[in-house]
Amino acid sequence: MSRFDLLIKNGTIIDGSGSKMFEGDVEVSDGRIAETGDLAGEDGATVIDATDRYVAPGFIDNHAHSDWTILVHPTGDSKVMQGVTTELGGLCGYAAAPIDRDEWWKLLYVRMTVGWSMHYSAAAYNTWPLPYGRQVDVDWSSLGEYLDRLEKTGVGLNYGMMFGHGAVRYYAMGLEARKAERRELDDMKEVARQAMEDGGFGMSAGLSGCPGCWADTDELVELCGVVEGYGGVYMPHMRNSYLRSSIEETIEIAERSGVRTCMSHTRLNAETRRLVDEARARGVDISFNMYTYPGSIAGNIVYMLPRWLSRRREEGFDWIVERLRDPEVRRRFVEEDYPQWRSIQASVPGKPPHRWGADELEPAWSRMQVQQVWTAGNRRYVGMTFSEIAESRGVDPWTAWFDMMVEEDGYLRWLNFRGTSYEDICTTRPSSSSSRCRTSPSSPTRPSSRPGASRPPRPTPGPTARSRWSWAST
Ligand SMILES: [Zn+2]
Repeated sequence: MSRFDLLIKNGTIIDGSGSKMFEGDVEVSDGRIAETGDLAGEDGATVIDATDRYVAPGFIDNHAHSDWTILVHPTGDSKVMQGVTTELGGLCGYAAAPIDRDEWWKLLYVRMTVGWSMHYSAAAYNTWPLPYGRQVDVDWSSLGEYLDRLEKTGVGLNYGMMFGHGAVRYYAMGLEARKAERRELDDMKEVARQAMEDGGFGMSAGLSGCPGCWADTDELVELCGVVEGYGGVYMPHMRNSYLRSSIEETIEIAERSGVRTCMSHTRLNAETRRLVDEARARGVDISFNMYTYPGSIAGNIVYMLPRWLSRRREEGFDWIVERLRDPEVRRRFVEEDYPQWRSIQASVPGKPPHRWGADELEPAWSRMQVQQVWTAGNRRYVGMTFSEIAESRGVDPWTAWFDMMVEEDGYLRWLNFRGTSYEDICTTRPSSSSSRCRTSPSSPTRPSSRPGASRPPRPTPGPTARSRWSWAST
């Protein structure tokens, strides 16, 4: 009989500690790594020859949006097959928990659409087009109940949860476009406290979208104070992921609240990278993650739907899209709503509004590349910019955009190549271990205990949280 359950031979081992890769073997027993090194002569029940291959612990995806989909596809194949074994979910301000059990679908709607549509409120609950919520029987309200549900379902990944600032604000004051009153802020803090008690890893925020964009810096500092008390982490989707004012605000929140902070999908340049380095030198515990390509994705029409249109949600989403045929609606959108949207997106409440340069106020049509369409007739435009599409249709870019929105029933995806470049990415990428986000237990692939006991490795004063992962059940 073999000594080990699994022997992986002749691999190039990258052990995740930051040390150099080395040639060797890995032995696994009882689901845990028992030994690494030169294990010639050893045997295993299963032997894998990893010659010319890398062997690494599972990757941690610290920016997952699988809170709902993991319940529809519990094995998480799309992640597991890429080597991801641990996910942190609930990002960008809209976590699946805590939520209002009776009105959860509204929140999901907000998450899926209004979250990306700024302050312009929910479009049409009754024609909510995204499929996932419909496939999930929502039997939770608190974050703890959600984690119980994950465990009961049995998921293929280790899953940690953030709670969402947007969700908490929505709970306390709906989609109100104003500063929170004392009583409302206290309500939010109570929900935040409960979420941390329930095992949350911290708070995410979605400040470029509704309702997060209405929160001022003080509100976020107070909520981060709660998170800090539990040794949690603050992970904001900032008002704008590359504007100096947004980076400065995040540093201010980290500095005033003392919360450990990791900026989500940041697009830094040399100047803003310096701000982060200076803050770190002052002792601010701030880090960032970033994607390594210059395009960001933009989605459907509700991304920037004006409030005066979306208020008519009872009319339905189709009705709203249909209005986009009206020249007067188009004019108002271009001249009034779009500039207002751009301004709110970049401004910090309570501070002077951000002023974009004239060329920044217009959509960057030549850098907006259509990525996905639904109708066969428009398939030829995939990969083209709106400038090119406008030219081929013989219209101006706004007209091309409106026309295609109508043709695609409001769902048209494009990539936005504005705000960063490959050069910026190369010069500002997280290059040292100190710039990496630390939201994971020290050995995520080898839990020292079962659910309920694991938490981020940081001794802190304040209440004892039972931050926990939902561990893979297989
Ligand atoms: Zn985000």
